[in-house]
Amino acid sequence: MSGVIIISFAIASYCWRNRLSTKDYPWLSAITVYVVFSGAIVVSFGYGYRDSPLMLLCLGLLIMVRLLFKPKLYKSAFVIAAVLFVGNEIGFWSGATTYAPLLKVSLFEGGILTSFWAVWLRVIYAMIAVPMVLLFLLLGYLMQAEKNELNRLLVTDELTGLASRAFVMQQLNAECRRQRRSGGALCILMCDVDYFKRINDSWGHGAGDEVLKALGKVLKQTTRNDCDLPGRFGGEEFVVLLPQANLDQAKNIAEKIRKHLSHHIFGEGENSYQVTISIGVAEVTDGQGEKALKQADKNLYLAKEQGRDRVVGGPLTACACGRR
Ligand code: GH3
Ligand code: MG
Ligand code: MG
Repeated sequence: MSGVIIISFAIASYCWRNRLSTKDYPWLSAITVYVVFSGAIVVSFGYGYRDSPLMLLCLGLLIMVRLLFKPKLYKSAFVIAAVLFVGNEIGFWSGATTYAPLLKVSLFEGGILTSFWAVWLRVIYAMIAVPMVLLFLLLGYLMQAEKNELNRLLVTDELTGLASRAFVMQQLNAECRRQRRSGGALCILMCDVDYFKRINDSWGHGAGDEVLKALGKVLKQTTRNDCDLPGRFGGEEFVVLLPQANLDQAKNIAEKIRKHLSHHIFGEGENSYQVTISIGVAEVTDGQGEKALKQADKNLYLAKEQGRDRVVGGPLTACACGRR
């Protein structure tokens, strides 16, 4: 038992010294789990777990390992604990081992518990159970907060605050299913900043980021909050999903976006400049989102080819089969 305590202290001091490290330490996790488990099992077996809170302690440890560590470690800890407990029970039944061999003074001998032991047992129980329940609540809260944050990172684009590519694709699939069922209108805008590389080269990457943020704002302001979904597809390419908008309405919205951005003045005085975008528009038919996405992309290519700073929409023409 003293070995377990010494190793636990060594692990704790190593963890404290490396608390700012972002590295993964799988070996440290394994040592921590197995050392703490061996300590808990020695105490549980040695002092009897059937009529004490020690079983609860082992169960609590298992839940903590499940919450904190990778599943591989939890599964092996669970299997080891289960084998030891079953082996121990078989040992008692067959008479090969004695129950609570480390317990030298008997606490309860079949009669009514003395008031001292009755109170003392409840104090010990509360000392283990209350902090453990609080710890689980805290861990549950922290893990939920972490999960929410991960979810937020997954569905939003950090720079612009718009939807991420993954979220746009997920929503496109859902909207396409709805479109196929109800036959309503659904359009896609594919927007790309013109000569964005020049902006980066002339005014710096920070200025480029500002342009992307401003375009994000324009997309939010010019689309309907409750049903349209503007998102960043990657780099300086943006997509907007427009449910309940036919091709003409979508082209009007695209034109509004284009004009809105072209009036925006970036920088100050001599260092001011304006930015334009090209937009490809396509309508989803028969719930075929991928096809419409490709069509919007090809229309965007056409808009670039025709001189940029324009909106091109509608079904493909023969010359629009190239790819940027
Ligand atoms: P075109 O008019 O044909 O679209 O030309 P372009 O210069 O806009 O297109 P190109 O694809 O050649 O350049 C895109 C540039 O966008 C290249 C890349 O460095 C830059 N870029 C991609 N992501 C970011 C970002 O998050 N921030 C900034 N500042 N630049 C980015
Ligand atoms: Mg571009
Ligand atoms: Mg591009």
